[in-house]
Amino acid sequence: MSRTGNKSPQAKLVILGDMGAGKTSLVLRFVKGHFNEYQESTIGAAFFTQVLSLNEGTLRLDIWDTAGQERYHSLAPMYYRGAAAAIVVYDITNKDSFVRAKKWVQEVQNQGKPGMVMFLVANKVDLADKRAVGNEEAEQYARENGLSFMETSAKTAENVNELFYDIARTLAKAN
Ligand code: GDP
Ligand code: MG
Repeated sequence: MSRTGNKSPQAKLVILGDMGAGKTSLVLRFVKGHFNEYQESTIGAAFFTQVLSLNEGTLRLDIWDTAGQERYHSLAPMYYRGAAAAIVVYDITNKDSFVRAKKWVQEVQNQGKPGMVMFLVANKVDLADKRAVGNEEAEQYARENGLSFMETSAKTAENVNELFYDIARTLAKAN
């Protein structure tokens, strides 16, 4: 978190995860309050800024959505350089996306800022009948690797505000 003059303190948040896991959908649900079944793949950088009101005061979250680089399975370090927090998303109906999420976690933990706040996010919980990744496994992984864990649906909005506000509160408390 950094402070500039009398403006809101600011923190960079990056969203990582496999293509199709729902990164853009989660961000758009939070920032714009809508959902698109035919969300187009993100091309180029996608950047959103949102000011959150907390008991601790306001916090400006600068949210960076990874944009198409997921397909190369490696990220430009500029995405997470200076990031105070990361959301690593997987799709509960897609086992590969969970495997990939763990790779992102490792990459960021190896190269990101020490003490970065990280949330592992199980998205698309509205598709529970097609679930391919069990919660126990994911929660255990999160616990063992120092991540918070949350289940979301960008489609129904379940836990989406909670996710971003939890992150903001964690960042505000850390300062
Ligand atoms: P990204 O590549 O990680 O940015 O994923 P997108 O946000 O583009 O989403 C990929 C596809 O999954 C799109 O067709 C979305 O409509 C769909 N999707 C995203 N989140 C959810 C969700 O929570 N539930 C359901 N049912 N579909 C979702
Ligand atoms: Mg996207």
